[in-house]
Amino acid sequence: MLDGRGQKISIGKNVLIIDPTSPEPNRGSFCYMPYLAKMGLQRTCQLSNVVLMEDFTLAGLDEVEKQNWDSVFIALWSYPQIAFCTYLDRVFRGKARFFGYYPIIEDLGLPIARLEDDEILYGMAEYPKNYKNFKHLLLSDCDQHIQGGKDIEVVPLFTSYGCNRGCSFCSAAVNCQHRRLVLSTDDVENMLCECFNQIKWNIHFTDEDFLYDTERAYRILKFATSLTDQWQFIALAHLNTLDRFVDFVRQEDPKVANKIWKCMRLFEVGLETASASVAKDMHKRGDSGVDKAVSVWEKCPVPILWLTMTFFPGETIKSIRETGNFLTKYGLSKEQMTPRLVTNGTRAGLGQFYQAYHGTGMDFSRLRGCGTVLTETPMRLVPSFVPDSFRESMFVRNALFIYTDEFDFYKQVYGLHLDDQDLQKIDGAIGDVPTCVNDLIKKLGIKSSTMFSDICICIALLARLDLIREV
Ligand code: SF4
Repeated sequence: MLDGRGQKISIGKNVLIIDPTSPEPNRGSFCYMPYLAKMGLQRTCQLSNVVLMEDFTLAGLDEVEKQNWDSVFIALWSYPQIAFCTYLDRVFRGKARFFGYYPIIEDLGLPIARLEDDEILYGMAEYPKNYKNFKHLLLSDCDQHIQGGKDIEVVPLFTSYGCNRGCSFCSAAVNCQHRRLVLSTDDVENMLCECFNQIKWNIHFTDEDFLYDTERAYRILKFATSLTDQWQFIALAHLNTLDRFVDFVRQEDPKVANKIWKCMRLFEVGLETASASVAKDMHKRGDSGVDKAVSVWEKCPVPILWLTMTFFPGETIKSIRETGNFLTKYGLSKEQMTPRLVTNGTRAGLGQFYQAYHGTGMDFSRLRGCGTVLTETPMRLVPSFVPDSFRESMFVRNALFIYTDEFDFYKQVYGLHLDDQDLQKIDGAIGDVPTCVNDLIKKLGIKSSTMFSDICICIALLARLDLIREV
């Protein structure tokens, strides 16, 4: 571990790692940090006793305070953890250091402890040997695409950590300083052997882009499928790297290719938006646009779950509708997803809501200049920001909406606090005369931020489902 000046921290014999409980589910690679720290420190400081307290709450504090710790490292990787972390800082009277999402820790002025590259690499390599030692394995809801019933066990496996691309909203790339730490293929092969021997054959590759190096990914999967073809894999990929990988595998030995495609259950690809203008503002895909996404979808023999983002600055009814239209053709159907999963990949799944993560270049004061900030402790599956571009875009009715089953289904999935009367008011307020979200809010007399948020989700859903259209 390194301190804020980049100096090595002497950690002593008794080391405590605390991962405070967080309501934020699966916030990318940060939430694995405490696990990587436990395994990495155990390996780099072999004489130390490293204890990880997962899901830590106030109830565990008495027990922890009774012991004499040489070092206390506290994970802070999500906004909802902030209040508890600043409290813990006081409890440990200056003894604690914080790691996780570094720009938040720096902004709060808390003492920092940065995982060294070796510790992250060891942490990744040691993960399979430690599955049994953890209470949680922290996987994503996409795991339900793996066949075998709800209770099937899926395990995470990192072969690399971080990303060197520059999508403007991306906290994952910021936190690793736009670098990718990579395990050798020999290490990955050993990890796969470990999984094979433990019969952990359902694996979610938790790399930001598992396919970043085509030949490496092919070599890893070729090795894996030489052990068995009973694996079920999920992997995250970038559109361009998936494109390259599909072309590459096609030219290789067909027997290996068939095994690879048999074992790959799902690719998760960050589409974010089908709107060229919003994608450009996000620095997302250059000029390739959705045409590239369509061509990859057409040739990829494995289902693609398109990850999307809603309410990025610049979002409008038009851009939301474009994404809905794309997902109607190339997304997954809601029947392929359980209600818990409709936040992504289906035509009305709004995916992650944009958050102005510290360090991404859009701080909260800048954000206030281009929209409404609903909270400064955002969670990705609830809107925390609504851009003015969305509030101001004009739209009219495209179809009758209130009583469609699909709208009702998504209304329930998002838990909207809108009763029949509210919906009838919205229905009545949208007609053939152009209106906008701001006008609707005025007509409905909305007072609470929950109601405001629900109305914005409702309008976004109507746009995604093609029930309103921009003018
Ligand atoms: S490709 Fe993915 S992980 Fe990399 S910067 Fe963009 S959003 Fe982040």
